[in-house]
Amino acid sequence: MRALLVQSANDWVIADAPKPVAHEDEVVISVVASGICGTDLHTLSGSNTAVIFPIIPGHEFGGIVVSIGSGATTFAVGDRVVVNPSRTCENCKFCISEKSNLCRTKGGYGTKYPGGFSNFVAIQEKSCVLVPSSMSWKTALLAEPLACVLTGMVKLTDVKGKRVLVIGGGPIGSLFAYVLMKFTSDVTVIEPVKERRNLISRLGIRSVLDPKDLLANDKWDIVIDATGSAAVMQDSVKFVENGGIFLIMGVAQPDDQILISPQMLNRWEISIMGSFSINNTFAEAVQLLSTTDDDLEILVTDIYKLESFEEALQAMKRKSAMKILVTCSEEIIL
Ligand SMILES: [Zn+2]
Ligand SMILES: [Zn+2]
Repeated sequence: MRALLVQSANDWVIADAPKPVAHEDEVVISVVASGICGTDLHTLSGSNTAVIFPIIPGHEFGGIVVSIGSGATTFAVGDRVVVNPSRTCENCKFCISEKSNLCRTKGGYGTKYPGGFSNFVAIQEKSCVLVPSSMSWKTALLAEPLACVLTGMVKLTDVKGKRVLVIGGGPIGSLFAYVLMKFTSDVTVIEPVKERRNLISRLGIRSVLDPKDLLANDKWDIVIDATGSAAVMQDSVKFVENGGIFLIMGVAQPDDQILISPQMLNRWEISIMGSFSINNTFAEAVQLLSTTDDDLEILVTDIYKLESFEEALQAMKRKSAMKILVTCSEEIIL
């Protein structure tokens, strides 16, 4: 089979790799497609600290079950599934208290275990979720980023009627804004790229602005960073209303820092929090997607073949692209 093999930082190739077999509790899936995410760029450049090289990356993927381990009972050959890439120890204080995203030995498909940029991959059956027959693959493949958003939503216990500002209109920012609209109509997304703004408007987000059109003294009850840029985060804290929340969704570089005035926390009671990866929200994400009539499909702007991974990477650098999918099966046309 063919796969994206990353040997070490900035050293990757599309090459032949051994086809996996399903161990007892696993299924092998023929990967239909994998989404590219900012984290994959960190993996390729060597700045994703969760990665153990060599690795086949890809953590936003799904496919068709083609073989089943001797002890696996949940799925049948031919089932369409998407994969929750997180794997945790299930024993530590975090795992047993529903904070498994904080597990110290957390690994995942595409970081510690072979991931989705591959024709086939073996997955624990408990990591797979069935895709409803009515759901398109483009929709289903948004399950992973949507599950991350739903994990972030848990931090925002009281959204109803609040003013919310989402900074960065990439896939995470767009999905977050889409979910927030179910709780409050006062959602604004700021995004510098015009093509992205047009797309986000089509999701029914009322206010989608160029950052330069935001008034410097405007205040928001909840401000969400979905850029991963420390410089943007530093500049955005000023938008948080007294008593409000600043939620960091974007993944910054390990050495990045921002300066915070302690007065902001005690005099003005602003809470700064973050959310990482997925915590028991993957099945919920698939369930939510099943109610969207494939409305979110428009977030998939580009599709490339695995053999053209370099072109997919170039598209990622062109900021007008939103979610880019890489197809890994010849049979399924998305
Ligand atoms: Zn991702
Ligand atoms: Zn654990």
